Amino acid sequence: MVLKPIALGIKYLLRKPYTRMFPIKTREYVTRQTRARHILYMDRCVGCRACQLACPADAIKMYRIEGDYPKNRPKIFPGIDYSRCTYCGLCVEACPVNALVMTNYTMQHLITEDKSTTLYTPEMLAKPPEGEYVITLSKDTWTPPPPPPPRKK
Ligand code: SF4
Ligand code: SF4
Repeated sequence: MVLKPIALGIKYLLRKPYTRMFPIKTREYVTRQTRARHILYMDRCVGCRACQLACPADAIKMYRIEGDYPKNRPKIFPGIDYSRCTYCGLCVEACPVNALVMTNYTMQHLITEDKSTTLYTPEMLAKPPEGEYVITLSKDTWTPPPPPPPRKK
């Protein structure tokens, strides 16, 4: 029993380190579950700020935008600072009207030290990414995890 984990530890000690040399040698690792760039549907957003309140990284700020948005009486919409975003998806889950979704479109250009380029305003989020992507998290795709199995007595 005790020897098995020790043998496993030795096996991994002898292996070469597994580090993806991104972006120098390898492409980013993207799957159909990867959470990356958001899309904001401004016509659905009601300006409730639930996404901002749910964000644990303080990445979301609300912006006032004039325009014909009858569902959004306060006329405020979220913008996301991707230098702070941890891609947790809590903002998507908090949105009551499915106005915010996440795609698997990663943004290599955001690997930068210039944080002035990592802020996405509501209008920028409203434009779908230019390139291939699938929606990986939305109220339509999210299903709550099953309840835990009953405890054995
Ligand atoms: S994905 Fe998480 S960290 Fe990023 S904006 Fe949404 S709530 Fe904030
Ligand atoms: S995106 Fe959703 S949660 Fe955020 S302000 Fe709009 S309606 Fe509310």
